[in-house]
Order: sequence, then structure tokens, then C-alpha cells
Amino acid sequence: MELRELLRQLSEMHAPTGEEDEVADFMAKEFSKNGFEVKKDMLGNVIAKKGSGKRKVLLAAHMDEVGLAVMGITREGFLKFTKVGGIYDGILSNMRVVIHAKKKIRGIIGAKPPHLMKDEELKKLPEYDQMYIDIGAKDKAAAEALGIKPGTRATFDATFADMDGGRGAGKSLDNRIGCAILVKLAEEIKKTDCTVYLVGTVREETGLYGAGTAAFGIDPDLAIAVDTTPAAGTPDVSEDSTPVKFEHGPSLGVLDAAGRGLIMPKKLVDWIGLVAKKRRIPLQYEVSERGATDASRMQYVKTGILAASIGVPTRYLHSLNEMASFKDLESAKNLLKAIIEEFPEYE
Ligand SMILES: [Zn+2]
Repeated sequence: MELRELLRQLSEMHAPTGEEDEVADFMAKEFSKNGFEVKKDMLGNVIAKKGSGKRKVLLAAHMDEVGLAVMGITREGFLKFTKVGGIYDGILSNMRVVIHAKKKIRGIIGAKPPHLMKDEELKKLPEYDQMYIDIGAKDKAAAEALGIKPGTRATFDATFADMDGGRGAGKSLDNRIGCAILVKLAEEIKKTDCTVYLVGTVREETGLYGAGTAAFGIDPDLAIAVDTTPAAGTPDVSEDSTPVKFEHGPSLGVLDAAGRGLIMPKKLVDWIGLVAKKRRIPLQYEVSERGATDASRMQYVKTGILAASIGVPTRYLHSLNEMASFKDLESAKNLLKAIIEEFPEYE
């Protein structure tokens, strides 16, 4: 399947943190279709394996997306919620959501009409704990009859949009981009000198948990997180503050969370740089002050694992409409393929 079509389908799936089955089942099917041995572990990670080479390479892409969890239902049938994952309240106001009740149903986050607002109210943003989801139910009993209770999850509701210039926008590109790249690699890796593990991980958005348990079980010689990363170049994100440019190829996350997460070994940074140069794949280097990827956890599993983080520059992360360029997806996929091919020579 084309990367574009893979990303469209994956973007429109719903996999809130801790309930990743919809994406997991899709990934498992695609992996086994391409001759990988597939299993699912207790937390829900999808682990696909191919080859029997001496060195083990693990590529991890998290399947979960940021979302909401119902905390309670008001007498009138409105849902109060908390946020699961890093969400700015500004994007929630009046958002359309999917409620994961007995079956999927629609909800909207209510917005007070400006007609009824005081001057001060017009100037400020409501906070999430003042907001509520309206599912159209006439009272609490009607909402409960749909199977809604504390813990019921909600995800953003958006369809994927093809944009000008080979770009696409939609919800959950963080990290269905990583998932799409792993599925595409499964199609392209016919045989390999390494033992390749393609892993769809769970619970990244709230603490990088699935990647930790998966890496512990696999104990790879090299672990790479495949994820998205904030791109500079829009009027509000300058290239001085965020060095990763849109459409300038994947980024290598050499140091995460101001050094509190992943710190890549210099030797590995240089080696990946050489692989990219040899294959003429554009590569950017990134240091982030906040935020981490699955690599930040995988590096510290067992007695320590050689780890790298590769990100696709993406605009508007953790919003209803994230945007990426298929050129960057393609380059990231090619770089990962080259790394798998060259890793037997790494010393
Ligand atoms: Zn994220």
C-alpha cells in the first residue's frame, strides 16, 4: 500500500492510550501478511519478527493517541472529562469527539454562545475542567444506557485531508506516521542479515511504558524510536527556537528533554550520519528541551541498550489537524531501511 493511503487509514483509526486494539489489529495483520512472526503481549504491544541474524534491531512506533477520559455524567447527561496525554485546552473548545461507549458515538464539546458572554469571558479561554461533552443524551440514565461510565474514553474526530504540495493533515499523525513507516518497511524488507523486530508500542503518550516492556523482552542490540517531532517554519514557530525544518528530511534526536531522557552515544550519531550521507538521505539533528520518545525509555532497559530516535517533522502536534509532508515520511523510511542493512557492519 502507498504510504499516503496507509497514513490516511491509520490516522482515521482510534487508539486512545491504553486501548490501542484498533491500530494494533491492523498492524498485526499487515506484519503477518508480509511474512513476519507476530505476537501481542500483555500490555498490548504488537511485536513482529523477521530474520535470524546475530544482531537484533528493534524499531518502535507508538500506536496510542492523546485523548480524553470520562470522569462523570451530570444529571442532565453531559460528560465531564480529564485529559489523557499532553493537550492544550485551546484546541478542545468546541471540538468534535468520538466516545468509545458500547459502540462508537459522536460527542461535541459545548461552547457558550458569545451572546451570553461578559466582556472578560470573551477575552479568555475556558479551561478543560469547565468544559463538558454533549452526546445528545436527554439525561444521565440515557447516557448510561449507551454504556458510558467513568473511564469511558473519547478521541478527536477528524478525517484525513490531502493538502497541496504532497502534504497531508489529520488527527493522530503523532504517531500513525511511525506506524505507517513500520508497515511500509514490513512490505519492503524481503530478507535481512539482522533479526528485525517491528513493534507497535502502547502507552507512549503518558510515560513511554509499552516500549520499556517490549525492549526488556527483546533485549535488542539497537533500538530506534520512530515518531514525529515538532517542525519549525510556521509564523509562530521560528527556526531559531526549533531547529527541525519541515521537508528537510527526518531528524535524529540526539538529546531529549534537556538531557533527562535519551542521550545518544556520539559514535552512533556519527555512524547514522554516515549512513545517511552514503545513501544521500537528508538528515537533521535535534536537541529538545521538552518531550521525549520511546527511545528515552528503551535506552535505560536492562543493563542499557544502544538507542536512537528518528522523527518526522510535523506541524501542529497534538491537535485535531496535524500536518506532515510525504517527502519526509519517505526519507525517514529509507533511512531506517539503510540502518537495518548496514547495522551488521557497525562496530
Ligand atoms: Zn505525542
